[in-house]
Amino acid sequence: MATIEIKVPDIGDYTDVPVIEILVAVGDTVKKDQGLVTLESDKATLEVPSSAAGVVKELKVKLGDTLSEGSVVAVLETEGAGVASSPLPPAGESLPRTGSGVAAQGAAGEGNKPTPAPSPQPSPAGGRGDEAPAPAAAAPAASGGLVETKVPDIGDYTDVPVIEILVAVGDTVKKDQGLVTLESDKATLEVPSSAAGVVKELKVKLGDTLSEGSVVAIIEAEGAAAAAAPAKAAPVAASPAAPAAPATSVPKPALGTGRPADIECRIVVIGSGPGGYTAAFRAADLGLDTALIERYDTLGGVCLNVGCIPSKALLHAAALIEEAAHSDEIGISFGKPKIDIDKLRDFKQNKVVGQFTKGLAGMAKQRKVRTVQGVAKFVSPNELEIAGADGKTQLLRFEQCIIAAGSQAVKLPNFPWDDPRVMDSTDALQLQEVPKKLLVVGGGIIGLEMATVYRALGSEVTVVEFMDQLMPGADKDLVKPLADRLKKQGVAVHLKTKAAKVEASKKGVTVSFESATEGQKPELESGTWDRVLVAVGRSPNGGKLDADKAGVTVTERGFIPVDAQMRTSAPHIFAIGDLVGQPMLAHKATHEGKLAAEVAAGEKKEWVARVIPSVAYTDPEVAWVGVTETEAKAKGLKVGVGKFPWVASARAVGIGRGEGFTKLIFDEATHRIIGGAIVGVHAGDLITEVVLAIEMGAEAADIGATIHPHPTLSESVGMAAEVYEGTITDLYIPKKK
Ligand SMILES: Cc1cc2nc3c(=O)[nH]c(=O)nc-3n(C[C@H](O)[C@H](O)[C@H](O)COP(=O)(O)OP(=O)(O)OC[C@H]3O[C@@H](n4cnc5c(N)ncnc54)[C@H](O)[C@@H]3O)c2cc1C
Repeated sequence: MATIEIKVPDIGDYTDVPVIEILVAVGDTVKKDQGLVTLESDKATLEVPSSAAGVVKELKVKLGDTLSEGSVVAVLETEGAGVASSPLPPAGESLPRTGSGVAAQGAAGEGNKPTPAPSPQPSPAGGRGDEAPAPAAAAPAASGGLVETKVPDIGDYTDVPVIEILVAVGDTVKKDQGLVTLESDKATLEVPSSAAGVVKELKVKLGDTLSEGSVVAIIEAEGAAAAAAPAKAAPVAASPAAPAAPATSVPKPALGTGRPADIECRIVVIGSGPGGYTAAFRAADLGLDTALIERYDTLGGVCLNVGCIPSKALLHAAALIEEAAHSDEIGISFGKPKIDIDKLRDFKQNKVVGQFTKGLAGMAKQRKVRTVQGVAKFVSPNELEIAGADGKTQLLRFEQCIIAAGSQAVKLPNFPWDDPRVMDSTDALQLQEVPKKLLVVGGGIIGLEMATVYRALGSEVTVVEFMDQLMPGADKDLVKPLADRLKKQGVAVHLKTKAAKVEASKKGVTVSFESATEGQKPELESGTWDRVLVAVGRSPNGGKLDADKAGVTVTERGFIPVDAQMRTSAPHIFAIGDLVGQPMLAHKATHEGKLAAEVAAGEKKEWVARVIPSVAYTDPEVAWVGVTETEAKAKGLKVGVGKFPWVASARAVGIGRGEGFTKLIFDEATHRIIGGAIVGVHAGDLITEVVLAIEMGAEAADIGATIHPHPTLSESVGMAAEVYEGTITDLYIPKKK
């Protein structure tokens, strides 16, 4: 054993850099290269790594101290002698794909934003280098104090739909305040007002598609000067494949309360959904003293309690009913199913959800994660107040925090939400009854999954969707087999249709509709239903935590911008899951949860996954990942497509489901796969091979040469690659002349 001093290594031109975080305590065992303290200048954040493995004997610095090259940070009792101090990597060096090694987190001179990992592909959708559009200046100037706010530079994006109008005529707005929200399949962004003033005219409506330069609103500016100042659009909650950098306007944090803490911990996680519990468990596994706050009495968040898992349990029941109903086509009849709704509810709630909520509670205990029930809010940068159901509050003091408070269903304002016949997805999953007639407002993934369940259980289902296709974001051809099957099953689908007026009466909920295209008659004018499910999206919970008191920036819509390490504008606070942006999916949240915990524990990592798959567990299932054909066309990418119809798959036909297909999208220059989509039974499982192929940078020939077991649906992936290569033998494709 030897004792060595750990000093600040060569940090270029930086001197007197403040310590913003102490990452270890006296007595801690540290690995070589593990960060001991974090320094933050106005340009970069960097950790001082331990130059040896050993035990921290003494910490020579405290928060707020300013350090320069050579300052002693800690004294370490090493495991072996003679270890020299390890220098930081050169500025601009990127973080490794797996966590070992370097310590610098910011490229000097480039701000506190980690360098993205290099992408071997030209421009894979959602890839690391695929930044969310970073809009530039909005246009000033109309005449006489009236200012036109236009859509600023939004990169390659054109015809992006307006999904939310954030202001009304007559509203007073601040400069840079969001006026409308645009959403492409990759990113959500707000168009900011280019001046402070009063909204005189709104030039757009929901569903309009805008491009750079489209006029959004006319603002009567507060002063002439305001009109001249161009505004910048802040990227909000971009896809995590390109996490939004913290916005520039960082709130001023509150002072600490000075009160004694009821709970103290190294790291606290707010919210126990798939993001939160993963982060807490990973942090505990990495040796951090961890607390997990959840407002409800079970862990698991939306996904486990009222989302992914109960919906899939019910979809399993729907699939059984559907399969039995069609078995007479192959000579087997079961007769009409008898549905015991109480037993089905019990299966979903107790046999499935209950088993896993208990499992999570058990695993939290095994890992010594302290779970606290209550609603958490920030009171200062290192303190949370937790309000329990019993009315008591506790003060929790932390060194680091991971915000994983998720999202909630959007409640359209014109619906009578106090009427139990009007449901959001949580209500629909309770399965109170099987209504004779059900209206589903919203033809996205959640709406269509619930439509599948209730239709199978016996409801007569109508779906209305504002856009011109079901599941906007997926290619139209991909959705067609699902739309055809729904039609065959008697589900009425009305596109470009908007619910306008809603009235609840004794006989039901009466809804009248408008066409999404102004001046046109809607496909369906009105109707009365026994129940109505509203599934029009989810809104983030970031705005409900008083996060400004901790110096954390929250956008007006409630998203929390983060960098590629999931850090918020307060470097010791991370955010993950639904509240950092689209896509709001559980597997994105878990991935981010692990990353945030590992970065908090000192590992040198950042977001490197290129793509995030989307799956609708409808019948048939619809799954897609990476670049879609629509997107490739819109962006002018040179791609080639290999499409294998399942009608040529003996396995698919053998199970009576030949309606599906597998489609792969390749970059024409490199033949590398950059996207893929599958529609058919088990598409959600099959898409994983495409995800892996994209992550590994596979070429069409690699996929075609991979031996797939026969006869399986997975063969369709290899065969789609062969279609692209022109080597397929299971189809006859005439040679091009
Ligand atoms: C019907 C439905 C079906 C879905 N199906 C799928 C699917 O098949 N696949 C998929 O990938 N995704 C699916 N999703 C989406 C998925 O559920 C979410 O993306 C995922 O749950 C997000 O995880 P999260 O950790 O960000 O937050 P959440 O799961 O939303 O968890 C957040 C937790 O934080 C708690 N919380 C919030 N504020 C506070 C506070 N102040 N103090 C303490 N606790 C707080 C909440 O109570 C909640 O438990 C579905 C969603 C729904 C609604």
